[in-house]
Amino acid sequence: MLSRIRARGRNRSVSMKVPLFLLFLIIGFLPMYILGRLTDQSFRQTQIDSRIMEVQNQCLIVSNKMSRSGYMSEDSRDSTVDVELDTIADIFNGRIVVVNKNFKVIKDTFRLAEGRTHVAEEVILCFQGESRSRLEKDKHYFALAVPVYSNTEEKSIEGVLVATASTENLMDMAGRVGEKAAFFQTMSWWVLVVAAAALSVLLMRPFGRLERVLNRVADGNLDQAISENAYKETKQISLAVQNTITKLKTVDQSRDEFVSNVSHELKTPITSIRVLADSLMSMEEAPVELYQEFMSDISDEIDRESKIIDDLLSLVKMDKAVEELNIVQLDINGLVQQILKRLRPIARRRNVELIYESIREVTADVDEVKLSLAINNLVENAIKYNIEGGWVHVTLDADHKYFFVKVSDSGIGIPEEFQEHVFERFYRVDKARSRETGGTGLGLAITRKVILMHHGAVRLMSKEGEGSTFTVRIPLNYISYPSGDPQPSSPKGREGQQAAGGRGKGPVSETQEQT
Ligand code: ADP
Repeated sequence: MLSRIRARGRNRSVSMKVPLFLLFLIIGFLPMYILGRLTDQSFRQTQIDSRIMEVQNQCLIVSNKMSRSGYMSEDSRDSTVDVELDTIADIFNGRIVVVNKNFKVIKDTFRLAEGRTHVAEEVILCFQGESRSRLEKDKHYFALAVPVYSNTEEKSIEGVLVATASTENLMDMAGRVGEKAAFFQTMSWWVLVVAAAALSVLLMRPFGRLERVLNRVADGNLDQAISENAYKETKQISLAVQNTITKLKTVDQSRDEFVSNVSHELKTPITSIRVLADSLMSMEEAPVELYQEFMSDISDEIDRESKIIDDLLSLVKMDKAVEELNIVQLDINGLVQQILKRLRPIARRRNVELIYESIREVTADVDEVKLSLAINNLVENAIKYNIEGGWVHVTLDADHKYFFVKVSDSGIGIPEEFQEHVFERFYRVDKARSRETGGTGLGLAITRKVILMHHGAVRLMSKEGEGSTFTVRIPLNYISYPSGDPQPSSPKGREGQQAAGGRGKGPVSETQEQT
């Protein structure tokens, strides 16, 4: 049950507007809240401090008057001072008590403690020359003591004026101010909520626009311009999608080209068959020899058609899945010898000498059928595109990592401008010659595909009229890379040296798996 809830939570995706909205709320709310609390506290403290100061000032004024009038000596007590003390106590909603040296209360504005002894901390401290105030927060009052000096030169402390005043009215006032502040705070809170919502929607707008454009692309509108440059991120996404679309278009285009090439190639033998059959049918009494000749041509065309189809099927199969490789550990020497044995009769027929040189014994992980097809194509081409009395030299070599099969010929060569195209499907330098020799234009495409499937590389060096050298490099140990994993880089340096050490027939063209 718990795991189901968790899974559901994982599947549900939240709009980015939500975390943005919450973030803005937190950013806006926290300072507002902290500021509100601090202001409230400091407002209350300031009110109390200023009230204490006021009472203290008033008491100091009266205490001066009391000193001047000799209030502390019983016989010369000034009644106007008493009135003043009563008035101050009333104004501050408090009580003032005057204590003499013997801690006896000689004046109490509440008239409750007169004649009694009043010993309190602030009174004792004040007699010692330290006047201070005391705030009782819980009981909502404060008390302060002010000394009353003698009227003589030495200014001794004759008595102490103790004032106590309530802070309740101050707190009430602060509470009322706090209520108003809370109202404004609530208003600001709502403004903040609206602003956060608007801002999160506004900030996410470019992503919304991008989504709409991508939806149109998904509907098949591949020509749709994707350029949402509001943010770096949207710009990068736009670029990535635009690149993917460009690649898709290229794939689409090459698929169209391939289909049209295939149709053309398949139609050519059929057209020939039709022409041959029509001409036979149009002749009323054609000689048997002509019939035989035409029927043999028709049979050749059918062979050609079936070869094209076979080659196409091989290519399509290889395109489908690399996993279809049937890798086995194989004696490559034996494999090459077998291929050459099969091709020797053709070479003999064309009067081409086939030489094999095995520099060392090689055992490698390969797909026997596919690799055999690839090498077969190279040697067969070397024979087909050769000259009368020419030669084909096949060499097998290896180092600690790769084995190399080099197929050199003394043939017609490939002009420099065609070299990069010969591995393309249906590409033929000389269509007529290729047709004549039964070529389909798919041989090198198949060879290249097989080598790439083995994580290898093929390189071509050729000079028109002098001959060609195809060098295949394949790792001795096949490593299966999970799709998307980077593949090892090619040892270009050594490959370059090897190419330079070849027959020096001119430009080099290499094809290998892209990393
Ligand atoms: P095809 O079936 O026509 O031989 P390939 O794909 O095997 O097709 O080769 C493509 C083209 O490359 C050939 O048509 C030919 O023009 C050229 N070619 C291939 N190998 C050689 C070679 N050894 N010497 C000269 N030209 C070659």
